Amino acid sequence: MPSRLYLKLVAAFLGVLLLVAVLTVVLTRRATRLAFGTYTERSAQAWAQRLAPVLADYYQRTGSWAGVDIFLHMAEMWPRGHMGQGMMGNNLPGHMTQFQSALLGRVLAQRLVLVDADGQVILDTQGVWEGQTVPADALAVGAPIRVGNAQVGTLLVLPAGEAGVITLESQFLSAVNRAVLGAVVIASAAALLLVALVVYRVISPLRRLQRAAQAIAKGDLSQRVPILTHDELGEVSLAFNEMAASLERAEKARRQMVADVAHELRTPLAVLQANLEAMQDGVLPMDLEQVQVLYDQVQLLNRLVADLRLLSLAESGHLALEKQPTALIPLIQKVIGQFEAAAAQKGVTLEISAPENLPPLLLDPQRIQQVLVNLLDNALRYTPAGGRIRIEVVPGADERTVSISIADSGPGIPREDLPHVFERFYRADKSRARASGGSGLGLAIVKQLVHLHGGEVSAESPIYTDAQGRGYGTRLQFTLPRQTP
Ligand code: ATP
Ligand code: MG
Repeated sequence: MPSRLYLKLVAAFLGVLLLVAVLTVVLTRRATRLAFGTYTERSAQAWAQRLAPVLADYYQRTGSWAGVDIFLHMAEMWPRGHMGQGMMGNNLPGHMTQFQSALLGRVLAQRLVLVDADGQVILDTQGVWEGQTVPADALAVGAPIRVGNAQVGTLLVLPAGEAGVITLESQFLSAVNRAVLGAVVIASAAALLLVALVVYRVISPLRRLQRAAQAIAKGDLSQRVPILTHDELGEVSLAFNEMAASLERAEKARRQMVADVAHELRTPLAVLQANLEAMQDGVLPMDLEQVQVLYDQVQLLNRLVADLRLLSLAESGHLALEKQPTALIPLIQKVIGQFEAAAAQKGVTLEISAPENLPPLLLDPQRIQQVLVNLLDNALRYTPAGGRIRIEVVPGADERTVSISIADSGPGIPREDLPHVFERFYRADKSRARASGGSGLGLAIVKQLVHLHGGEVSAESPIYTDAQGRGYGTRLQFTLPRQTP
């Protein structure tokens, strides 16, 4: 079924078309009638002018208008066209030439009115004005009949009465009308066809968009529309497809997130439940050691929930930074201090290299401390005994940024994992990370917090080569803009 918009547009065009057609027909009719009227009037006048001398001649010969009707009738009845040149004029009444006789025949097909010098009608071939007086203004269009210097009458050639005019004028007019009407009908049909086609081409992508949008509303986010043109409709289709793709990505991410969260919560909860059940059944003793295990699981859950909260706040842009002028080096040293004992215990050295006089930076100290903790936590976790962690602070060459890097001598991150380490719940070595309690949120949080500060994050691995030529070590780096207060 054609759409409502389609019908509306075609109907509107049809209206315009009808208007144009009617106007064309009416105006052409008027114009041709006017032109035709002028033409017949002019030719009637011309005929009158040509015939006037014949009548003047008649008047001169007879001295009056008496018998002029018989004369004209005879002249008209005179057989024409069969006479030779030499005989011309001899057999015609008066001094009428063959041409004038022929003319008379045509004029008599119209209406001929002869008026005498006083305006009295002497002859009207249609008998309408017989015996009347013709007003002066009507005489003005006639041809004066002169004998010497005196005007003895006026000859008027008028369009013949109803019957004659209708045949001639209406024949001409109806021929013109037929032609105009034919042209209008053909042009209208062609235009209508063209419009129907153009409108269809506009409507059909709209219909496709409508169907796709309805399908999306019902939850089918895989809907896309074909882009067939490069005009506004094509752009709308393109925008629609982009919107659908972005919706699909968001929906996929949301599902993934829910699945990941459920998955992450399941392990500590399962451990808690199993241990508690074992205690209830008396399989496990309810001693301090067991409580510690339960406590660790609860702590893990707590951290997970806190990390997720922080991440979702940061990702949705609802995490407000409390920026203040902060000396970066002392902040880093404070974080190193937190890790010193653990590093010493593991046999890992911690080093820092930083410029002496770095001006304070405008940042949220608590959040940047969190970034450093997450990075150092990873470095220490993945660096074996005897390893080395080196923290380096380097002012950017353009003086507009500061770069902070943490390089460790751990095993490094496999090449295929490197692009993904900043994604949430991503763990390069699944089993090892889980065993060490990692949930894969640390670097995702780092990325969000650094981005909130207007900085960038990057990961590089390997960064060193051992004696056998194998690469090892990881460098995580982030920049901070130097918005000095
Ligand atoms: P969480 O930090 O949430 O406790 P996690 O440490 O596993 O868990 P991320 O900090 O996001 O998660 O790190 C993601 C993954 O990147 C880690 O699981 C690990 O495989 C890898 N990774 C991160 N830093 C290093 C590093 N310094 N050396 C080797 N691998 C690393
Ligand atoms: Mg981590």
